[in-house]
Amino acid sequence: MRFKESSRFHLILFCSLFILLSACGATSNESTSNDGTKKNETASDSTEVEKDIDEEENDVDTDVDEKKDTEAKEAVYKVTPEWFVTPTNDANEKVVLLTIDDAPDKHAVEMAKTLKGLDAPAIFFVNGHFLQDEEGRKQLQEINELGFPIGNHTMTHTDLTTISEEEQKEEISEVNRLVEEIIGEKPKFFRAPFGKNTDYSKKLAEEEGMLLMNWMYGYDWDKEYQEADALTDIMVDSPLLGEGAILLMHDRDWTNDALSDIVTGLQDKGYEMLDPLLIENVNE
Ligand SMILES: [Zn+2]
Repeated sequence: MRFKESSRFHLILFCSLFILLSACGATSNESTSNDGTKKNETASDSTEVEKDIDEEENDVDTDVDEKKDTEAKEAVYKVTPEWFVTPTNDANEKVVLLTIDDAPDKHAVEMAKTLKGLDAPAIFFVNGHFLQDEEGRKQLQEINELGFPIGNHTMTHTDLTTISEEEQKEEISEVNRLVEEIIGEKPKFFRAPFGKNTDYSKKLAEEEGMLLMNWMYGYDWDKEYQEADALTDIMVDSPLLGEGAILLMHDRDWTNDALSDIVTGLQDKGYEMLDPLLIENVNE
């Protein structure tokens, strides 16, 4: 631990780290098929292999704002092309990253409170169609105020591979505009509906300063697991559970019911719920 050293030193150290590590590894690879059953949302993008175009944006921010959450940002993780997170230094490897999609629908605020109570960070991926009325906007504010980073999950949850580039831009950029209007900052993460990106959506996400984020496993869209106990069991005992796994859940009744047991089950297995703000590219 180097907390005693000057914060100026930390600032320099972190600037250097981010410059070194900020290349976007947007390669999409085969993800895993849990059990052969068809998923409604699959991270597949299977055969696409995109060569990274390392557009380094080295416009180093020189503003000397007081660094907030200095300690919290010390560790650095990155997202791999296989959709797990891995430390780039000696930080804890035994982590999982929780993500909640299709928010804020019915339960997102309650889910955020549950997670907060368990000291479990997560990303909430929001759809713009939930942010059209006062209630939805209030919920987004509340989730954000509870300390959860917000991700962009498009305006209407449309399969991006079926629409034009202009329509994709509308789906993606409009959510950023709305979220910024409501909470004062843009989303830091992007997840395409069904995990189905296009070359254009990847490029746009990067231009908008968002990190692409699919997942390693999730089960709550599968009929077999639309009940709290079954969902808890599979989320905690999945063969796909491993160090750095990105876990997908949704704003749904049964997921809300299972959430507390899922988190404590994972904690009992020794997993720490990773703070998404420790992932590189999101602290700039
Ligand atoms: Zn979704």
